[in-house]
Amino acid sequence: MNEPDKHAASSISALHGQLQTYHCLCSTLILTTSHNLDELSSRAEPVQDGALILPLGAHLSTSDFVDTDGHTGVDSVMSNVVPDRKAVIIRREDGFEKRIMFRCSRCKLVLGYQLDESHFETSQPVSRPIYLLPGGLIGTEKMIKGERPEMPPWAGQTV
Ligand SMILES: [Zn+2]
Repeated sequence: MNEPDKHAASSISALHGQLQTYHCLCSTLILTTSHNLDELSSRAEPVQDGALILPLGAHLSTSDFVDTDGHTGVDSVMSNVVPDRKAVIIRREDGFEKRIMFRCSRCKLVLGYQLDESHFETSQPVSRPIYLLPGGLIGTEKMIKGERPEMPPWAGQTV
């Protein structure tokens, strides 16, 4: 068992008391957050993927290293995620949506996405919410207990 968990958690625990950590289905640490995923709201119609909305103020990292310097107000950190270089276009009833998918850097499972910057006036990624696909992440406590989430139907899809 390697211990990227402790490293990431200790880096931001100075800022926030209670942190939750979530892992990919392959057990890689993905998310350290002061939010409880069970309590996040999901995207409303006409978006039908049921993605959870991780509020503003999330910081993305492609490695275990979590640097919160200069990121005041950050209450969520995603580690070990790699954004796709190309956006995907999703057709919605009311138009189109351009998404940048995030994958686990280890198993390449799609875990969530952010809307392309063309949807926003600012190009600052930190000011955009992150959408998490339900079922892709498992809490550390559950993982330690050996609970495994059902493999969600979208996990087998190639995007
Ligand atoms: Zn993974």
